[in-house]
Amino acid sequence: MHVLRRCPVCECSQAALLHTIHYPAEENRILPTEYRIVSCSSCGMVFDDFDADASTFARYYHSAEKYALKNIAGSGGESEEDKKRFQKIADRIVPFIKDKNSHIADIGSGRGELLHELNQRGYRNLSAVDSSKKCIAAMKNNTNWKTVHCALEELEGKLLCDFIICSQLFEHLFSPAAALQILSKILTPSGMLFIEVPNARCYEKYLYKPYHYFDGEHINHFSVEYLKRILHANGFKVLLFGETENKLLFDIVYPDCYALARKTTEPVPVMDAPSTDYTEKIMLYLEKSAKLSSLQQTLIQSQNPARRYFLWGLGAYGLKLLNSGLFDSWNIAGLIDIDQSKQGKIIRGHTVYTPSILKKPENRTACVCILSAIYEEQIRRQLQEMGFSGDVNRI
Ligand SMILES: [Zn+2]
Repeated sequence: MHVLRRCPVCECSQAALLHTIHYPAEENRILPTEYRIVSCSSCGMVFDDFDADASTFARYYHSAEKYALKNIAGSGGESEEDKKRFQKIADRIVPFIKDKNSHIADIGSGRGELLHELNQRGYRNLSAVDSSKKCIAAMKNNTNWKTVHCALEELEGKLLCDFIICSQLFEHLFSPAAALQILSKILTPSGMLFIEVPNARCYEKYLYKPYHYFDGEHINHFSVEYLKRILHANGFKVLLFGETENKLLFDIVYPDCYALARKTTEPVPVMDAPSTDYTEKIMLYLEKSAKLSSLQQTLIQSQNPARRYFLWGLGAYGLKLLNSGLFDSWNIAGLIDIDQSKQGKIIRGHTVYTPSILKKPENRTACVCILSAIYEEQIRRQLQEMGFSGDVNRI
């Protein structure tokens, strides 16, 4: 099929359709409601195709507030798990940054915890870049690094760096190749870049909920090979790379991969197609997801729809489930999410509340159904702390 968004790695405009995902057309939704997960006909890279352009995503991240939340996993959060992930990144990059005065920038810094780790290791010349106002505001009182409020695409002329870190960023970018060209311009001639992204080759190994790695924000599904390929095609020579896993929260482990590269003017050979079992593993992930999804459907249909329910968790996974129509016969009293930007909205006919709605006497005996893919344990603990006495189940 012809894709509306070209392959982020090789720019090919033909791809094979693997799966389609629909989200509810909620009030003020910025992101597309239909995502087609496709595999590039030329290089095999799996990516999301949709009817939206780079400006749609820029607008979305500019207004995104969730990455400034303290308890969001895998961004620049302050959880013990995130701190460990930042320590691992620091361990990998520190041997390549000998000069403690090197200018290091973390792009997509969230709350800046990775820079905090580097600062503790003696680095003094640090910059945090984020396009979210709330993230920048969350860092405003620190004196250990500079903050730059802008998107990666607007960085030209604003910084000159010796080392750039993009952790959990490239999977979100509409045009990763264009981003590498911009990063090249803000790097010194022998400057270096470290990229860490979710490792799509291992999605099937860490499957928690069906299709949950296809979440509307992660639109590029890299592996080590594709990271190397895109870096080599854009004037970088890869010096270090690998697969890793990081704990997100409680017992949720996430597959990641990384590459550290140096800017170069020498031509670097670009490989043709990935030599590993990437495509096979993605197909296996889709197969496993389809099986799990049908089990889930049976589970939803076996619940007593006449009970009074609150559905908690409106991330991509929760929204997809809600949009499936499987809850349409349920007696839903409301939806719950801790993200303030969602509260008060009406999604598929139901109002989104703060968790405190459960403190009302009439709701104490309601049933809470958790729709979150990865925050289940966190929600359970919050319910416990609130002293909620009704039933809690999960889908
Ligand atoms: Zn391609």
